[in-house]
Amino acid sequence: MKPFLPGSPRAAIRGMTERTCLGCRMVLEKGSMVRLAVKDGRVAPDLDGRLGGRGAYVCSEKCLKEACKRKDAFNRAFKARIEHGGLDSIWELVRAARPSD
Ligand SMILES: [Zn+2]
Repeated sequence: MKPFLPGSPRAAIRGMTERTCLGCRMVLEKGSMVRLAVKDGRVAPDLDGRLGGRGAYVCSEKCLKEACKRKDAFNRAFKARIEHGGLDSIWELVRAARPSD
């Protein structure tokens, strides 16, 4: 996995392509993060940018797990009640799509 540059909360206001990580709350360049969206009431990785609706971003597997620990993190990010089953398998899908990581 390539290292990413530390961001600052201020950048979120200026930059259009920076997002806050749901796990570590760092503001990072969108391209270095994984977008998560809701598919059939569950959180799914939006690997090819085709899932619409609200999105949430995580920068690493560690951050995904952090977000999973806080049950309200996804509910708040998506403004909906999210089924938390299967969250552990999200990163497996990410890894499968990004073998270089
Ligand atoms: Zn993070």
